[in-house]
Amino acid sequence: MDFLNFSEVDSLSFAVIGDPIAHSLSPAIHMQFAAQCDVTMRYKKWRLAADEFDQEVRRFFSVGGAGLNVTMPHKGAAHRLCAQLSDRATHAGAVNTLYLKDNEIHGDNTDGFGLIADLERLGWSIAGQHMLMIGAGGAVRGVLQGLIEKAPKQITIINRTMSKAKELCFVFSDLAAAHNVRLDCQNLDLSANNFELVINATSAGLDGEAPALNPSLVEAARCYDMFYAAKPTPFLTWAAKAGARSVADGLGMLVGQAAESFFIWHGVRPEILPVLNELRASLMKQT
Ligand code: NDP
Repeated sequence: MDFLNFSEVDSLSFAVIGDPIAHSLSPAIHMQFAAQCDVTMRYKKWRLAADEFDQEVRRFFSVGGAGLNVTMPHKGAAHRLCAQLSDRATHAGAVNTLYLKDNEIHGDNTDGFGLIADLERLGWSIAGQHMLMIGAGGAVRGVLQGLIEKAPKQITIINRTMSKAKELCFVFSDLAAAHNVRLDCQNLDLSANNFELVINATSAGLDGEAPALNPSLVEAARCYDMFYAAKPTPFLTWAAKAGARSVADGLGMLVGQAAESFFIWHGVRPEILPVLNELRASLMKQT
């Protein structure tokens, strides 16, 4: 049984909440971490509508549930619900990991950790790089603190809705200044060819599309798509044709953010690579 059965919730119970949730790979990832680290736990999918989120999450912890991951569209609601937030969850304005401590619901955000761990695995530097971030939604907000703290030379944010990019520049301006990072925002029709590391954080891939961009942006750049799929994503296919130096999708980020949640809950750091390899192989089988 893949889905949470409330009558079975106890101190070994973990779940991922989203809507939709049937597609989630989180149970497979966490159960592989558990086997690797000899941890006894159960991890289920839990579909919740927005209007039941607060009440059901509180109920889960009140009957002894151990921890929750939160995905679209509930990361903002999870942030509002928490009595205590980590520094990175505060910056992100979004929470993807919940747990109970001293009888209070605590929230953290591990997306930035997951992205940075995957860029490190790929051997793609962040420090001193000219970075382009495409998109200005929750995922970008979640990763900006971690990226800025790695001291790239520049982060330019472009987004279809310019006001959202401007807001992110405003929110992160002090942190960027403290790390000597030039943070600016531009329109989606920007033309420039000085970017070394380009990250697509739009949800266009969900509709089978790449965002409409000037090819000069990715010329000779390393291109990362937070979106992942069994086949090369629309953005990565487009970037490779436009002359990108190398491309990678967000499956590694997904496993990396899960590893950090696992560490928060169990105090043990699982190995990311074997789980990533296993997931990639099973995704390939579906094509
Ligand atoms: P949001 O809904 O918060 O933001 C979506 C962003 O995509 C906005 O900036 C939006 O622009 C932009 N966008 C959507 N469609 C288009 C389009 N056709 N052309 C240009 N821009 C477009 O989503 P998230 O930030 O939470 O997620 C973004 C992506 O990152 C998703 O694909 C998600 O699956 C992925 N992700 C992956 C993770 C991983 O672990 N690998 C973790 C978290 C997210 P506008 O503001 O104008 O609407």
